[in-house]
Order: sequence, then structure tokens, then C-alpha cells
Amino acid sequence: MTAYKIFGAGAGGLYTAWRLAASRKLNRGDTIELIEWGNYAFDGAVNPTRPPAGRICTHHYKGDPAQSYVELGGMRYVQWNPDTAQGHQLVTKTIEMLGLNSLVVDFETTGNPLFYLRDRRFYGDDVVNKSVKAPYNTGANDKPSDNLATHISKLMTGTRDLRTRAAQCEFYSSGTLPKDVNSFVYSKDDVVGNVGYWNFFYDQAGNEGYEYYGDAGGYTSNVIAWNAADAAIYNGEFAPGGAFKTLSRGYSALFARLYYAASTEAFNNGINFTLTQNTRLHSIWLETIGGHLIPHYRTAPASQPFSAPSAPLTANYVFLCMPPRSVELVANATRYLDMTGKVDFLNHAGVQNYLESVILQPSYKVAMFFDHPWWTSAKFPPKLANHVYGPTVTDIALRQVYYFGNNGTATPPVYGLLASYDDMEFTTFWQQMQLSGKERRKVPLSQDYQPLLGPAKAPAEMERMLRLELAKVHFTKWPPDGNQVPPPLETSFLNWGLNPFGAGYHGWSSHYDIGAVMQNIRTPTYMATGLNAGVFIVGEAFSNDQGWVEGAFCTAESVLVDFLGLKSIADTSKYPLICKPSAAAPVTS
Ligand SMILES: Cc1cc2nc3c(=O)[nH]c(=O)nc-3n(C[C@H](O)[C@H](O)[C@H](O)COP(=O)(O)OP(=O)(O)OC[C@H]3O[C@@H](n4cnc5c(N)ncnc54)[C@H](O)[C@@H]3O)c2cc1C
Repeated sequence: MTAYKIFGAGAGGLYTAWRLAASRKLNRGDTIELIEWGNYAFDGAVNPTRPPAGRICTHHYKGDPAQSYVELGGMRYVQWNPDTAQGHQLVTKTIEMLGLNSLVVDFETTGNPLFYLRDRRFYGDDVVNKSVKAPYNTGANDKPSDNLATHISKLMTGTRDLRTRAAQCEFYSSGTLPKDVNSFVYSKDDVVGNVGYWNFFYDQAGNEGYEYYGDAGGYTSNVIAWNAADAAIYNGEFAPGGAFKTLSRGYSALFARLYYAASTEAFNNGINFTLTQNTRLHSIWLETIGGHLIPHYRTAPASQPFSAPSAPLTANYVFLCMPPRSVELVANATRYLDMTGKVDFLNHAGVQNYLESVILQPSYKVAMFFDHPWWTSAKFPPKLANHVYGPTVTDIALRQVYYFGNNGTATPPVYGLLASYDDMEFTTFWQQMQLSGKERRKVPLSQDYQPLLGPAKAPAEMERMLRLELAKVHFTKWPPDGNQVPPPLETSFLNWGLNPFGAGYHGWSSHYDIGAVMQNIRTPTYMATGLNAGVFIVGEAFSNDQGWVEGAFCTAESVLVDFLGLKSIADTSKYPLICKPSAAAPVTS
């Protein structure tokens, strides 16, 4: 009997459980146990605190599925196009295989967004038709900021054809700046993956150009000093294109169904499948038994995540389907146990170096629900296709606004607004408002597990600040008057920078061979000992699709195919699941 333990019932963990259960590779009587720190509303869960799962959270008004919803975590995917080999192949395929195609709807993004930048309101088309110049002191401000980003990317990619994933992987590993790079700082043989994106952008476009793209792009995480090779693709002409899609019942529906499919497949195939929630992987190490390195671990209850860990337990295969901060919390707990005669592989210097190869990117979302869609009659309304989604982009703490509208079945209708979607330093603005003006902090932020507990109600001060900022963006009154935005029926937030996530998503740091990290971090025990003891790290962070569910699915799929012999459900001929290292870098598999 073989025991498979999957820690983390987010996207990567659920996908791993489903693929294992349906693989026909397991024997009757084998066990799959899914162990999750949170308590998500999967089929049969007792007193769940929030919708499934991990960094996905479809939040309905009053928590009632009949009411309108706003996505407080991941919200959309890029439909796979087999002709161009672009888009999210595994997410598209999984939705199809789970029978959810009938729920797929467009996630409308406007081609003419409302901007509120440097106290000026204008629309994207105003810049395109040259009736407005963006308020930045740069020669490029008479064009959309995306043009500037494409230009900067081109200065790094040169004349290379980087349309395929394989070519992009090669570029990440060994691409150098073009021969004609015109830079005071960098030279032609510098490896692009050793350059920071912000650094290069500043070098080429100055601070005003950098600020223009950083502000107008909406995502600060896209313009930090992350790996310029990855950024050159992600923000440039070779960015994966395609149609945004979502599920009409909200994105959590995919993960609820994935859990259901995993348990059903396991039942049909005689596999013992269990879900253990409210349980944290506390620590993990290897012990030699009968000449073999065997994974050992302890768990702790969610109510006391750092104390009273269980007696040591073992498994044949262990999947750590969790983001780097979560892995680091496990490594930290393991570090202080007696490791005499044991292998503390997570704290091995090489593993630690690779765990730190990605930059944690905190993100924050706030949902508001109103009894009418006041934004449609604002002085500066969003110009939306089919009245929904967005974005509106600002340089204030709101950063991006998405208009979800009435997507429930209940009456009277309620209109949802993703009032703020921000990341990086902007998240601290709202974090300080999570407590009311009358409260002192009693729980340290490091031990505030709000994203596990679910969307929290905003204090009155946060709600008023949101109304003030929304009024600033959609109306012109001076001084701004928050009363121009009506009092909401509900305001709820999710702070993804808090533990155990530590980030909404991740970006590759420069000075790493991305392909080498993607390949090797999957088997940390091999990195530490030269032997693969059956412990795998899976998830969005160390993937080719950071910030997307697709990244979690692809890393999981790559582990299942490369180390457990499953046949891939993906067509990998033009779509490597993860990158390979350059020839010079070590390969371990
Ligand atoms: C605001 C926001 C917007 C996003 N937008 C999109 C989008 O539109 N489209 C898209 O595709 N993606 C989006 N993403 C990214 C997407 O949500 C993630 O890529 C995906 O959820 C990552 O899956 P994962 O399995 O790697 O990790 P997670 O989803 O984070 O799952 C990890 C799980 O591990 C659990 N865990 C942690 N530590 C332990 C432990 N010690 N023991 C047991 N369990 C543990 C956690 O509770 C969690 O359930 C967004 C994310 C955020 C935050």
C-alpha cells in the first residue's frame, strides 16, 4: 500500500489529488490524503470558513451563493488556442474534463479604460486619438503606456523570435542584451536574466517613463526589479495572448469541482481518499530506514499552528503544494527540532537559495456591494463591454477597479464592485485600516491568518476611505466628497500578503537561471542529498506562469509526469510544462 500525502488544498494540491486519483497508476488500497491548514467549503466540509480554495475566493454578498459575487482572489484564465499554442492549456483542459464548459463565460476587459493618474481623469482612447497626453514628463506620454513597455522589452529581446515557450525558456536561461544595446549601465554580453526590470527600465526611459508604465499598467508587481528576461516577455510583444474567460458561478466553482472529481475518482478506483482540514504541516525531514531515505513529518492543529505538533508520521510520497512563505514557515519550524541523524532538507543552503529565487508580491482586494450601480451615472463612468469588469486604473491606493455588477439570482439585485485591487507597497495602505481608529493590535500581523479565515468586514474608516477614493476617480468635485458614492450594503477585504501565503503571487528574481530552479526545486531532497526521497514542491511560485493557476497546474503535471510516470493530459510538443535550464546549469531528474 502506497501513501500519498498532499499538503495544501489550493490549485496545485487539488490538481495533484485529482490527477493521481484518476491516473490508473495507483493500486486499490493506496491512500491519498489531502491536508489543508484552512477549512474550505468542499463537499461535506464541517463548518467551513470560506469558499475554495487557496488563493481563489469567490465572495458572495452575505456569503449567500444566490447573491452577487466579487472575486477576492484569482478570477480568470486565458483560453487555450491550439493553433497558436497560446493561453492556459491545462486550465482550459481541466475545465473541459470536469464538464464545466457550460459555465465558461467571457471575462470582459475594456479596450477603453478610465484612468485616474496624477489627479487627471481620462480614457485610453483619449490618448490613442491624441486628444490627451498622459500626465508624465516623458516623450512617450502621447501614446498608450503599453507601447513604451513593448519598446523597452524590444531593447532586451532584440531581433529574436521568441513566440514559442521553448524559445522563451532558452532566452530566460542564456539570452544576452543585443549587440546594439545603448546603455550607460549595461553592456551587450550581460545576461538579461541577471538584470532587474526596474533597473533596465530606469536606464532606458528615466523615472518619468518608468512611472508612466508602472502607474498606467495597474500592477506594480509587473514593474519591480524582477528578472528582466521574464519581464521582457511578460510585458512585451511576446506576452501570451488570448481571450480572458471565467466561470459564471465564480472561479471557486472550479476548485469545488476539482475536489469532488478527486474524491469520486478515488472512490471509483478503490483508493482511500481523505481530506483533513484545519491541519498544518508543521515540520518535515528525512530519516534512513532500511537503507532508504523516508520522509517524516509532524502536523499541528490550525488552532495552535506552532505548538503541540503531532507524533512523527511517514509517507511514501509527499507533495508540498504551497507557496514559498508557507514552505519557509515549515522550514523554520523544522530548523529548531533535534535533527541529529536526520536530514533537514528544506534548510539545505541550495534549497534555501532556490526558495528565495522568487520575489513575494503581496496583493489586496476589497469587495463592495451596492443596491444600485452608481458608477454607470458617474461623471466619469467606466466604458465597459456588456456593463461588467474593467479595469479602471489609478495611481492611488485603489489601483484597479473592476465592476462585477449584478451576477446573482436573488432579488432585489445587488451590484458588486471590486473597489480596490492592488499589490506591493499599496497593500500597506489598506492593511493599516483593517483595524478601526479605536482599536490596538492584539494579534501580531505575522499570526493573522485572515486569508484562511475568509473575507473580513471592513471597519467604517476603511469603507469611508474607499468611498472617498472612488469619488475622486469617478467624479471631479473639489475637495472630493465621499458622499458622491452611496453607502455600500457590505464591504469585505482579503489581504493576501498575510501568512501563510505571504503573497498574492510571485515574480522571478534576477540572477537565477529560471529553468534550473523550476526543474530542481521540484525535488528538494535530491538537491540536499543527491537522492530523490519522494518529496515534491509544487505551485504557481516556481512556474512559467507566475500569478496564474496555470502555473500551479503545470508544475504539478510536470512532477506527476516526470517522477510518477503519469501520461500527460497536455500536448507538450509546443508547450513545455516548465522550462529547462541552459546547457551550463545542473540538471537533476
Ligand atoms: C488577488 C489575486 C488575484 C489573482 N488573479 C488570478 C487570476 O485572475 N487568474 C489566475 O489564474 N490566477 C490568479 N491568481 C493566482 C492564483 O490564485 C494562484 O496562482 C494559485 O491559486 C496558486 O495555487 P497554488 O497551489 O500554488 O497555491 P495556493 O492556492 O496558495 O494553495 C496553497 C494551499 O496551501 C495551504 N497551506 C499553506 N501552508 C500549509 C501547511 N503548512 N499545511 C497545510 N496546508 C498549507 C494554503 O492554505 C493553501 O490552501 C491571483 C491571486 C491573487 C492573490
